[in-house]
Amino acid sequence: MRIGSLEAGGTKMVCAIGDENGSVFEKLVLPTLSPDVTMPKMLDYFKERNVEALGIGCFGPICLDKTSPEYGSITSTPKLEWKNYPIVNEFKKALGVPIGFDTDVNAACLGEATFGCAKGLKNVIYLTIGTGIGAGIIVEGNLLHGNLHPEAGHIQLRRHPDDKYDGKCPYHLDCFEGLAAGPAIEERWHKPAKELAEESIVWEIEAYYIAQALATYILILAPDKIILGGGVMHQMQLFKLVRRYVKEILAGYIQTNAIEDIDNYIVPASLHDEQGIIGGLCLGKEAYGSGN
Ligand code: ADP
Ligand code: ZN
Repeated sequence: MRIGSLEAGGTKMVCAIGDENGSVFEKLVLPTLSPDVTMPKMLDYFKERNVEALGIGCFGPICLDKTSPEYGSITSTPKLEWKNYPIVNEFKKALGVPIGFDTDVNAACLGEATFGCAKGLKNVIYLTIGTGIGAGIIVEGNLLHGNLHPEAGHIQLRRHPDDKYDGKCPYHLDCFEGLAAGPAIEERWHKPAKELAEESIVWEIEAYYIAQALATYILILAPDKIILGGGVMHQMQLFKLVRRYVKEILAGYIQTNAIEDIDNYIVPASLHDEQGIIGGLCLGKEAYGSGN
C-alpha cells in the first residue's frame, strides 16, 4: 500500500511516502511558511505520488473531536497564519483519500509502539523535549485524546533551588515547557543548548525537571515504557540523571519490574527521528481501514 505521511511542525513540514510496514521510501522537507505558500507544494507532492491514504501528525493545539465542525483544524496556535486552518479538509478536497489525523507526539508514540522500542506494549508515553514539550500517550492500546488532547508539557513543577530563571511559557511562564524546553535552556544560560554539553549544572537542573514530570506521568498513567525524544534529548547524559531522579522522587513507592529495570523503562527514541513520519504511516493505514 502506498501511504503518505506528513509531520506538520511549526518550523518545518516533513512529507514522506511509505508503506504499511513502516518503510519510508522518500521524503521532502519544506519550511513552514503561510498556508498559501506551503499547502500547494504539499498537495502537489502527495497528488503526484498517488497515495492511497494520508496520515498527519500535527503541531497544535488541534481539534480531534470527530463530532465537531472544527475537526481536523489547527486551533489556537501562536503561528497566526495557521490559526483555525482546516488542514484535514484541504487535503481531503485535493486528494480524496482517507486521512488519519492526530497530534505530532501521538503520531510519534504510535510509530514507536508499532515499529519501535515499544512494540507490543499497551501503555506508552512518548515525550518530546525540543522547541516545545509535549507527550503522546497510549493507554490500554489506544491513543489518548480525552476532551482535547493531553498537553503534558504545561504542568507545574517544583523549582530547582538553584534556578532563578523566570521561565519562558507565554501562558504560564514557569511550567515544565517554560523551564525545560530548548529555548528556555538557551535563555537561562545565554548559549545554544548544544554548546552547554560540558556544563553539568545545566543538565542537573534539566534532569530535575524532566524527572518530576515523568514521576507524575508514572503515578497517573502507569506506563509500560517512557520514550524521550526531541533535540534536547540528544544530550545523552540526561538519561542517567533523569533515571536517578525518577527513582528518588518515587522513593520506592512504586515497585514494579519495569521500574526496577529503569534503563529499559526510560529510553531514547528508537526510530532515528523518523518516529513521527512512521507514526503518520500508521495513522494513514488506520484511516484507510476505517474508510475515514
Ligand atoms: P522541534 O521541537 O522544533 O521539532 P527539535 O526537537 O530539534 O525541534 O528541538 C529544537 C530544540 O532542541 C532547540 O531549542 C535546541 O535548543 C535543542 N537542541 C537541538 N539539538 C540539541 C543538542 N544536540 N543538544 C541540546 N539541545 C539541542
Ligand atoms: Zn505553559
